[in-house]
Amino acid sequence: MKSRYVDTDARAYAEEVRQRASETLALRTYTSRLLGADPALVVHGGGNTSAKGVERDILGQPTNVLYIKGSGWDLATIEPAGLPAVRLEPLQKLRALDAMTDEAMVNELRLNLLDATAPTPSVETLLHAFLPGRFIDHTHADAVLALADQPDAEKVCRSVFGPNMVWVPYVMPGFALAKQCAAAYDAAVASGRTPAVIVLERHGIFTLGETAKASYEAMIDAVTLAERYIDDARRTASFAASPRLQGLDGPVLPRLRGALARLAGQPRERGPVLSVRATDAILAFLKRPDVNDLVEAGCATPDHVIRTKPTALLVTAPDYGDLDALAKRFEEEIVRYARIYDAYVDAMIAEKRVKKTRLDPWPRVILLPGFGLCAVGKTQREADVTADVYEHTIDVMSNAADVGRYAPVGRSDLFDMEYWSLEQAKVKKTTPLPLAGAIAVVTGAASGIGLATVERFLGLGAHVAMLDRDGAALEAAHGALAKSHAPELLPIVADVTSWKDVSAAFADVVARFGGIDVVVSNAGTAPEGRLDEESGDDALRRSLDVNLLAHNHVARAAADVMLAQRTGGCLLFNASKSAFNPGPGFGPYAVAKSALIALMRQHAIDLGGHGIRANAVNADRIRTSLFAGGVAESRAAARGLSVDDYFTANLLRREVTARDVADAFAYLAGARATTGCVVTVDGGNAAAFPR
Ligand code: ZN
Repeated sequence: MKSRYVDTDARAYAEEVRQRASETLALRTYTSRLLGADPALVVHGGGNTSAKGVERDILGQPTNVLYIKGSGWDLATIEPAGLPAVRLEPLQKLRALDAMTDEAMVNELRLNLLDATAPTPSVETLLHAFLPGRFIDHTHADAVLALADQPDAEKVCRSVFGPNMVWVPYVMPGFALAKQCAAAYDAAVASGRTPAVIVLERHGIFTLGETAKASYEAMIDAVTLAERYIDDARRTASFAASPRLQGLDGPVLPRLRGALARLAGQPRERGPVLSVRATDAILAFLKRPDVNDLVEAGCATPDHVIRTKPTALLVTAPDYGDLDALAKRFEEEIVRYARIYDAYVDAMIAEKRVKKTRLDPWPRVILLPGFGLCAVGKTQREADVTADVYEHTIDVMSNAADVGRYAPVGRSDLFDMEYWSLEQAKVKKTTPLPLAGAIAVVTGAASGIGLATVERFLGLGAHVAMLDRDGAALEAAHGALAKSHAPELLPIVADVTSWKDVSAAFADVVARFGGIDVVVSNAGTAPEGRLDEESGDDALRRSLDVNLLAHNHVARAAADVMLAQRTGGCLLFNASKSAFNPGPGFGPYAVAKSALIALMRQHAIDLGGHGIRANAVNADRIRTSLFAGGVAESRAAARGLSVDDYFTANLLRREVTARDVADAFAYLAGARATTGCVVTVDGGNAAAFPR
């Protein structure tokens, strides 16, 4: 592993943040980011760093402080504000206590913050405070864990890191670990050693230094030693990955997602979001003869239990050829996993005589040989984080087994971590947003009603695939929304008149999110023309392609996924008031839209037995690109109105907007007892009342 420290970068960063950070804090922030930049050192909020420095209090008095990572910050993106200053001496005095609850400890940490609004300092703060190093770095580096998770880890680590290493047997993070670590360090100093590396059994590594660079580079050096040891000691050749079985996302993921949703009792048309990984390392791991034992052994470091649960669910030898059997197998395996988990929680609660809020028993990581790793989350962000964490777990497991035996922290300790009082405090009953857990597809998503619907759905908690044939417009629309919603969005350029495009786009949505619950088939055109003329006849043919047949491509591709999930589904079509109240010279449009209403009703009839609903929105006169290029002027003239009067000529005398239509789609996406229905969004048009 190479050091990423660059003197000129460090100085430039210190200069950049000079207004808001002392040099010590600036350099601490700089090297924290260097650690965070390498996922082989820390992933997603893992690890922590500190520095000891001096700040002036409100009276101008110099005060010794500890800058320590605040909770909620990630080392990869940390800012000086993410390393709040805590008064050092009051923390160091706490070492005199024999014991301290986690709640009391957090209280002391918060009481001694210089800024009362700063984030709560890391639970490993006292460990940093009790040790002498001016800069201290802590990671859960993959290579170090592969050694610290061995049955004879102390012996292995001593042979790798030398006599100056401080060894700390496993203790749960918190006050007891801080005291034990400081005692082990002091004992090493008393015996005449100058320790720079502290290894925590089955947990991770700390390094110390007088400068930010020294402490960071001590970490890099230690990890490099561990990597070299692994390379030399590897007894077996790495397992070769066979190529991933192709074309399985479509059949596999909706069946897995549906089983997870049904068993967890989620409402229909909702489910978890999946994140799939299928690297060579993962596929090779799933082929190992010892894969079952490794997976059963559990988390590589206790922190990870919050993301992955104690173990993953490994489905051995799945039969991808028989999809009905596969769906049944998923259900059986998930139920079995949940039973084992519940029994484990019961046993721990009885054994430890504690009262705890029981957490759900469903797996977070599902391993499918030949296919890959599927992480499960409430959101794509959550699923991606879990997938990242487990990818590193696989790395640690493989290396540990190749150089010895993988023997990580046991179930009892994992229980203490998963059911830790500070974690339990975060378990709250929250009311989910109406479209949380819904994966939606919107066509014609780059502008107008489609874009308004995407925005509305995102605001209600949905994940949304944006389909549009105009790549540039889609890129612009997606770019603007992605600033705050990147993980929940998937832009796909597709022409809905092409079945090939539509089926490929739906496959992409399934591969990214794991399934589909709601489809808003919105893309359309507004061709004018008289049907008794040749040009009108041609326009009708083109209109039927876009305004009728393309909608069926979308419905067909969606139904395929929804039937595999067996959790119902919602098909929504953007029809038009023209379906009921055609206008003069607008036949190509009106005929196709009337047929679209018929198409919607047919799907409602054919798919209702599977819980799949089909509904339409009849909007009228929305100022969108449909009316560009003179169509608005022409339609207004056909009704003998000015353009502005044309847009407000309704019972409510109110212009109807794209957002009004988006609201109707959002309503129907939650109207679970409604199918075969047309909702009008036209400001009131008696001639177009549905009948
Ligand atoms: Zn740690």
